[in-house]
Amino acid sequence: MRRLDRETVDRIAAGEVVTRPARVVVELLENALDAGAERIEIEVSAGGTERVRVVDDGRGMSADEAARAVERHTTSKLPDGDLRAVETLGFRGEALASIADVATLTLTTNDGGSRATRVQVADGDVTVEATGRGRGTTVEVTDLFHNRPARRASMAAPATEFERISDRVAAYALLRPEVAVSLEHDGRRTFATPGSGSFADAALAVYDREVARESTTLAATASVPVGDEEASVGVRGLLAYPSITRASADHVRIAVNGRPVAMPDLRRAITRGYGSLLPGDRYPVAALSVSVPARAVDPNVHPTKAQVAIRGADAVADAVEEGVSDALSTADLRRSADVAM
Ligand code: ADP
Ligand code: MG
Repeated sequence: MRRLDRETVDRIAAGEVVTRPARVVVELLENALDAGAERIEIEVSAGGTERVRVVDDGRGMSADEAARAVERHTTSKLPDGDLRAVETLGFRGEALASIADVATLTLTTNDGGSRATRVQVADGDVTVEATGRGRGTTVEVTDLFHNRPARRASMAAPATEFERISDRVAAYALLRPEVAVSLEHDGRRTFATPGSGSFADAALAVYDREVARESTTLAATASVPVGDEEASVGVRGLLAYPSITRASADHVRIAVNGRPVAMPDLRRAITRGYGSLLPGDRYPVAALSVSVPARAVDPNVHPTKAQVAIRGADAVADAVEEGVSDALSTADLRRSADVAM
């Protein structure tokens, strides 16, 4: 764990990290994924306005690391400050500190040793004590925006804030099927993926049986020009058949190197891949994970990293479109039309 130097900090796109409960959830979820967790449990109360809790079984932190993790601009993820080589979801070292600025944050963690550490930040006061817990990390956030009346007042009704949370968590759960992700709201389970690695299993958990049945999986690779070299691009995921559509593009989900992103160009490439199979003004249900060489991606162009810059983006989009249209043309789409064989 190191403190980033001023220069690196300045190069990191600035942005207000915590704007609403869903941001808190996403930052904690990304930290759990970066820690190599295989199981992540997310519990929220009142749409996250009262409480957010994320429990993971990842590598955890030592007492020293835990105390430093809540300081500003401390990260374990940029070994030599080289932003170009970053392969983790986080790298700015500001999420925990920013959350602790506007809420009470309690972190309990164990890196596999005999004792765990509990760090609490409340009103700027940091307390560190020894406690018990197995390997992994639990972060609990309460009193969100207690010291930011304007932000507190601008939060939507719990049901609306929860919709955002649920949508964001679903994206990670669908696009990282190797991790078991569960979401609970006010004590009621929303969904829980099994972590089997299967996109279909994750879709069955997040959606209903119909979407899971009326879909095909895809695993394609293409050689794509990226700058002046050829790069191997992988496209994997799940495509619901065109018999299942939605009125908005919200269910067209895409990840680049494991990071869910909101990139209209890639979204449109997926929709283009469905071509005329899709009724006009309807959108498909799809979750595609695109992998490109890390050096071709700059994740540091957007405050919430919802967009990344890809060198050779057009060629990557073409590869996505082709992967989708090939997968749909080989799938037995008539299955959904009850054709007797
Ligand atoms: P970043 O993720 O950009 O490094 P954060 O403020 O989100 O910044 O986290 C700071 C550091 O705390 C991380 O670099 C990591 O070392 C540690 N950390 C945070 N959450 C976890 C977790 N769930 N498991 C293990 N380590 C964590
Ligand atoms: Mg982080």
